[in-house]
Amino acid sequence: MAIGQEISLPDNGLPRVVVVGGGFAGINFAKHMRGAGYQVVLLDQNNFHQFQPLLYQVATCGIEPDGIIYPLRKLFEKYSSHFRFRMCRVERFDTGRKRIYTDAGELGYDRLVIATGSVTNFFGNAGLAKHAIGMKDIREALDIRSLMLQNLERAAATPDAAERDALTNFVIVGAGPSGVETAGALAEFRAHILKGDYPDLDVELMNIFLVQSGDCVLKGMSAHASRRALDDLRHLGVEVVLGHRVESWDGLEVRTDAGLDLRARTLIWTAGVEACPPGGIGEDGAAGGGRLRVDRFHRVAGYDGVYALGDVACMSCPEFPSGHPMVAQPAIQQGRNLARNFQRERLGKAPREFRYRDKGAMATIGKRRAVADIGKLQLGGFPAWLMWCFVHVLFLVGFRNKLLVFTGWVANYFTYDRGNRFIVRRFGEH
Ligand SMILES: Cc1cc2nc3c(=O)[nH]c(=O)nc-3n(C[C@H](O)[C@H](O)[C@H](O)COP(=O)(O)OP(=O)(O)OC[C@H]3O[C@@H](n4cnc5c(N)ncnc54)[C@H](O)[C@@H]3O)c2cc1C
Repeated sequence: MAIGQEISLPDNGLPRVVVVGGGFAGINFAKHMRGAGYQVVLLDQNNFHQFQPLLYQVATCGIEPDGIIYPLRKLFEKYSSHFRFRMCRVERFDTGRKRIYTDAGELGYDRLVIATGSVTNFFGNAGLAKHAIGMKDIREALDIRSLMLQNLERAAATPDAAERDALTNFVIVGAGPSGVETAGALAEFRAHILKGDYPDLDVELMNIFLVQSGDCVLKGMSAHASRRALDDLRHLGVEVVLGHRVESWDGLEVRTDAGLDLRARTLIWTAGVEACPPGGIGEDGAAGGGRLRVDRFHRVAGYDGVYALGDVACMSCPEFPSGHPMVAQPAIQQGRNLARNFQRERLGKAPREFRYRDKGAMATIGKRRAVADIGKLQLGGFPAWLMWCFVHVLFLVGFRNKLLVFTGWVANYFTYDRGNRFIVRRFGEH
């Protein structure tokens, strides 16, 4: 389609609300808009929703990629009376003319909902951005899987001991939930898969380094959870390096600000995210970290009829002065609240302020090892791990995906096997 051409959409006589982003916030908004008196148009650069909390399992050969992504058209197949999906990348908004410009053409809106999530934050380090792999979408998860397996294949084949060392050193930067979970999963890969699959590689050779600039892991969780996760990681043989900020990696040499110097051919970056919405919202609507400043009704400051939800939105309130945490629950709850306010408006009722219900935080370190902070309750070990499994299956989108992941985990629980050790698409060749 020529750029500048209008994206084709049916005219059903209803005002149009365009939602940009089919993540947790976007799909929860769109789902609750039935009967609100709008034509809802969802735009996303992918034709699928992805469940980011389990990306690390795809990256470490734990589950199939199609267990955690779900087609957006299938998700909304029963909503065709008021809903349309168009796959395109939104480039910018013209809020004066109420137009959206995309790589597939342009379209107009009556209301605009921005739910574009976040991207990996390399904190301005161009070298790291060039070489390291983030873990923000399914392609990156598959890249990590390919790179890890390719490096093990190369390690098995090389006669050069120093190169073999570098190929079997794995560095994960950032000890938040994603980094901790990835490190734990790699440690389990080493314990249960490496020996059988690569009899020529000494298990001791594979080193997993988890590097964190602060002085603890899982900083956002309780001290109990943080301590327990650290103990579990060390028990699994992960080398946790605290107080070191990774400053450079050129594909081989890793350097930190506190003098650590090691050689590794794999570096996974889970150290931070930032919002990066399409252009068109000026300084008045901007908050820190690329986020958009919204009020308690999700309205972007200074822009009439424009709303923002989820990671991209910064709603400052007494409990969260710099906005809600960039995790799934605020996105889900904000999507629902805004849709309900649209419904209320139709009934002539006043909108409701958003109030976040914190359902707690959890992270798994490996099989039967997890930590969970639920209100005042602090759990660890097997009960926390069971709860973690239950919550993740519950929140996966689509019955088929729930079944796929659940049966995969049950099989893995008894066999310790990880079934997806395929290099389908070599990393570095695309
Ligand atoms: C590896 C990882 C692990 C995580 N683990 C957890 C966890 O255990 N628990 C938890 O609560 N949270 C976790 N999170 C955070 C959670 O996934 C996010 O907070 C949540 O996805 C935010 O939802 P969202 O709808 O705002 O954005 P997203 O879910 O990121 O969705 C944004 C959507 O917008 C689309 N998009 C972006 N830009 C454009 C554009 N220009 N044009 C068209 N489409 C666009 C994207 O394709 C995407 O579909 C994790 C995140 C990651 C990366």
